[in-house]
Amino acid sequence: MNERAAEQSASARPKYSVERICVSVYRIPTDLPEADGTLSWQKTVLVTAEASCQGASSLGYTYADAATAALIQETLAPLALGADALSPNAVYTRMQVAIRNLGADGIAAMAISALDLALWDLKARILGLPLASLLGAERTSVPVYGSGGFTSYDRETLERQLAGWVGTGITRVKIKVGARPDEDVNRVRAAREAIGQAELFVDANGAHSAKHALQQAAKFADFGVTWFEEPVSSDDRDGLRLVRERGPAGMDIAAGEYGYRPSYFLHLLQARAVDVLQLDATRCGGVTGFLRAAHLADAFGIPLSSHCAPALHLHLGCACPTLRHLEYFHDHARIERELLGASAPSAGSLSVAAAQHGFGLKLERERAAAYHVSTAERFER
Ligand SMILES: [Mg+2]
Repeated sequence: MNERAAEQSASARPKYSVERICVSVYRIPTDLPEADGTLSWQKTVLVTAEASCQGASSLGYTYADAATAALIQETLAPLALGADALSPNAVYTRMQVAIRNLGADGIAAMAISALDLALWDLKARILGLPLASLLGAERTSVPVYGSGGFTSYDRETLERQLAGWVGTGITRVKIKVGARPDEDVNRVRAAREAIGQAELFVDANGAHSAKHALQQAAKFADFGVTWFEEPVSSDDRDGLRLVRERGPAGMDIAAGEYGYRPSYFLHLLQARAVDVLQLDATRCGGVTGFLRAAHLADAFGIPLSSHCAPALHLHLGCACPTLRHLEYFHDHARIERELLGASAPSAGSLSVAAAQHGFGLKLERERAAAYHVSTAERFER
């Protein structure tokens, strides 16, 4: 290469380019068997994506199938390596093009999400800012709701978990319903007695028909339930709308956790199916996809609540003033505290510390080693 060509090559190279992508899989057992209205599980798979640039290293992740890691490693990482680390949205666009023939939902969306989160985290770390500040923070803390109350819990475990959250200052909690509908009124009653005046949410994970959901909603209203999540399948937008329109006053209908791309959220919003739209940045395209969906909801005047992965959503919530609360999901909160160094809520909210860079998380490799399944790396050539 002559001198002029070398100069041109150097000027084309971004000042900060992505040098390394490392993808790992961890399989973490739940502390107790967990179940909701339509599924049960005893492990959670954490897929991490780390990106590096000039000594800065970042962390993004998703809770997904291990196959997600292979897709990041084989198909997406080459699109990020060498790219401008200050323009994660440009990599997002290239990733969306690359997965066209794979299907834009599910594993492909979760793979894009993990890497997009890692790239935004890297940009914030390069700039020495909390991610919330990089995005434009409108607040430094966001309220949470305690989320668990699994249908697999016995009554004592249910009550202890809910009362424990309220005891730490969390003013709203959610339990799962729908696995055995005949038992749900008693479970809701027990939850109400355990939490006193705190807000009580329920989530059926799509277990009911619309008419059955309306029947259950009327019973739950007697115990002051103010949130009925996925009373019917979130694919049944007409059913959601029916429950939203005919259900008890003061009970919000929420859905959106299975949204992977903006058109899904647009269809939910156009169908007037929800009072509150749930977004999950580990599924809907990371920071880039979350913000796009948040803008859509804003245009419809619909508030947001984040789904799972509270440590990631804290920063997005600080930048999205219409986000009501973060789901402090028991299983993910435990993993993020123990393996990623996330903070616990204080007085019912999670807060961003000014000294944090990016999401402020760090993979505790020694602690995570017991759950490690695989790691693969790629480097900029
Ligand atoms: Mg849910």
